Amino acid sequence: MSRIVIVGAGQAGAQVAFSLRQWGFEGKIALIGDEPSLPYERPPLSKEFLKGELAEERLLLRTSRWYAENSIDVLTTAEVTSIDPECGLVFLEDNGLSFDTLVLATGSRPRPLAVRGAPLLGVHEVRTIADTYTLRQVMRPRARMVVVGAGYIGLEVAAVARSLGLEVTVLEAADRVLARVTGKTVSAFFEAEHRARGVDLRCGAKVSAFDGRDRLEGVRMEDGTVILCDIAVVGIGIVPREELAKACGIACDDGIVVDRDARTSDPRVFAVGDCTRRPLVHYGRSGRLESVHNAIEQGKLAAAAILGRPRPAEDVPWFWSHQYDLKLQIAGLGAGYDQVVVRGDPAERKFATFYLRDGVLLAVDAINCAMEFMASKVLIAGAARPDLAQLADPGVSMKTIIDAQRN
Ligand code: FAD
Repeated sequence: MSRIVIVGAGQAGAQVAFSLRQWGFEGKIALIGDEPSLPYERPPLSKEFLKGELAEERLLLRTSRWYAENSIDVLTTAEVTSIDPECGLVFLEDNGLSFDTLVLATGSRPRPLAVRGAPLLGVHEVRTIADTYTLRQVMRPRARMVVVGAGYIGLEVAAVARSLGLEVTVLEAADRVLARVTGKTVSAFFEAEHRARGVDLRCGAKVSAFDGRDRLEGVRMEDGTVILCDIAVVGIGIVPREELAKACGIACDDGIVVDRDARTSDPRVFAVGDCTRRPLVHYGRSGRLESVHNAIEQGKLAAAAILGRPRPAEDVPWFWSHQYDLKLQIAGLGAGYDQVVVRGDPAERKFATFYLRDGVLLAVDAINCAMEFMASKVLIAGAARPDLAQLADPGVSMKTIIDAQRN
């Protein structure tokens, strides 16, 4: 009986197993993860779960009973130390496992901030359930927190911390928040929202060290300023975990390089999720995506290819972020835009920002605007050239704009 081994029991690895069983694979499946938990979803770790509003069981993608009933062997706290695709073997610390097909779903790790004092007690990151529990324990009202990095995770942590009554400073090296992922209007909007809630938000602020003897006492900036604090949270991006692939000669380029079917340069090995660099079919280039949608989609693509099924449709990339009572939904990738259209009024805390290049819609950031988000997915997938005046006018429904493209 054939055996598929999946290394990495996160969102993407688990999806491969789910889809294989759903589509009738009857062979053996081993899902190997180095964390103690069954596969779980990470987005709540910087949102409801950090706030204490969600029980740990609610994070799990499936129950242990489900895996047993579907004959999926989940190995937890089990690190794969090396792989040998030619011999069809993966090695754990104390044993090995043979495979016919291997899937690498090793995810990513937080990008370290390489400054003095980074290992001090009191300096945190948020990637795992354990990280969030550790952080939750110290998030007491009036504690002083410094968040380093104003990306989605940093801003979400800042929002939760403010709502729990902590004093929060956010330090961002770039000249605006979310600079890597969004345009100036949306950055300015979130900056104002955080400041209005009492966050001391500083852009162009570069950290040079964490100060403290036994534990963190302050964050030192390049200009010499020291911000006294009890807690620091570093959220400056992630790096793909590609070491296993690299070590056996599989092509990597800031991510394990895969084709549309999630196949690596070794035909026996697939790779899915945060650890990959994949073709972005709607944009004619390759890239890394760090999202639940990508993990699920690539999980399905790999399972379909392994089973020789037709390739599932590839959706426009999408993502979300929750901060305070704001729901930001993002569809598409805005890189390279040459035009921005805003629909609605940021002052009303309900608006959408569209990004276009040569008149073609590339992406949208929709804030408390679910309809604009959903409609944009359709428009982006069709490489639509919407009428800009209509797009900017909330009085013209998104359905009208979609219909106009079809005619
Ligand atoms: P992971 O979930 O990282 O899973 C990989 C697993 O493989 C890990 O458990 C890892 O420990 C394990 N592993 C690695 N190497 C080995 C090895 N050698 N042996 C055994 N196991 C190994 N996305 C959104 O779309 N929306 C959001 O709002 C959002 N919020 C997020 C908030 C936080 C705090 C974080 C951390 C992420 C968030 N994301 C969000 C991103 C999303 O969670 C990830 O893109 C997704 O989890 C990627 O899934 P993955 O399976 O590729 O990787």
